[in-house]
Amino acid sequence: MTEFRKDTIINRWVIIAAERARRPSDLAEQTTEYAKGGFCPFDVGNETATPPEVFAMRNQGTLPDTPGWQVRVVNNLYPALSVKDKPLITNCGLYLSMGGYGTHEVMIEGTDHEKQFADFDDQAILRVFLTWQERIRFHKKNSAVCYIQIFKNHGKRGGASLEHTHSQLVAMPFVPGLVEQEIRGAQDYFNTNNRCVYCDLLKQVRENKVYLVAHDSHVVSFCPHASRYPFETWVIPTQHQAGFEDADQETLFKTGRNLGLVLRSLNRVLNRPSYNFVLHTNPAQSGSANYHWHIEVIPITTSIAGFERATDCIINTMAPEKAAEFLREGL
Ligand SMILES: [Zn+2]
Ligand SMILES: [Zn+2]
Ligand SMILES: [Zn+2]
Repeated sequence: MTEFRKDTIINRWVIIAAERARRPSDLAEQTTEYAKGGFCPFDVGNETATPPEVFAMRNQGTLPDTPGWQVRVVNNLYPALSVKDKPLITNCGLYLSMGGYGTHEVMIEGTDHEKQFADFDDQAILRVFLTWQERIRFHKKNSAVCYIQIFKNHGKRGGASLEHTHSQLVAMPFVPGLVEQEIRGAQDYFNTNNRCVYCDLLKQVRENKVYLVAHDSHVVSFCPHASRYPFETWVIPTQHQAGFEDADQETLFKTGRNLGLVLRSLNRVLNRPSYNFVLHTNPAQSGSANYHWHIEVIPITTSIAGFERATDCIINTMAPEKAAEFLREGL
């Protein structure tokens, strides 16, 4: 059973997914290395070791849950949310809860156990993005789903329990706070300036270049002016579009190529770090035409400490203009 619970003082939701760690020992300090040569449920031939596939890009004539796939999507064996938990709100004094309704999928991005996402060729990254689009379109049809969060954990410190390259999707019954803040900010900026704040940001990044990492006609990668984390990099298409699922194939291809460049540069500069990257896109049922989808890449170089936990204000020890310089050199 999973549950959303709201801190009624600051209106912040958390997910209580108790199955994921039951004993204190499950929460003890983990090793930073993956065991070598163990069984991998994401390998070709082991398809029955995962929950049944819900989507795959596979060779014609091959059957679900058999070899012949390039990208394969299955439900997470340890889901943070479940469609069995209905999104009903219960109130008990100051304790506000809601059933942990939602879907948690794993997208196995390739068949080669050894190959990292950063080492994918441009076509392989495009296949992953096309899969993301297809799953977003699928979940948007469910009126109970308000937001579809796609994210990637890479490496142990990035939260990836399995080494085999994969991304994840959580379809959930409300728009998470950070995305809501971004949409509200974009809408407020539009109301004042009649322009998209992300489009304006890309213009400024390309003009003065200090934060610029890589760009072409379709996409700009840069370390944002107010980066929270060392080497945080945003990858944003130049064409204004609120929803990722509406992007055309050329935009997806070039965004993927640029993301690959950024990740390979991070690998060179930071010696193959763990990282997360996340897709921020328009919500499923609401949102704003003045939002602009983007990918945020965050290498894991530090851990959150006391001041950050106390204040939600992050101390970043690497100036983004310097990080951008290193990343340009690493290209
Ligand atoms: Zn594997
Ligand atoms: Zn825009
Ligand atoms: Zn964002």
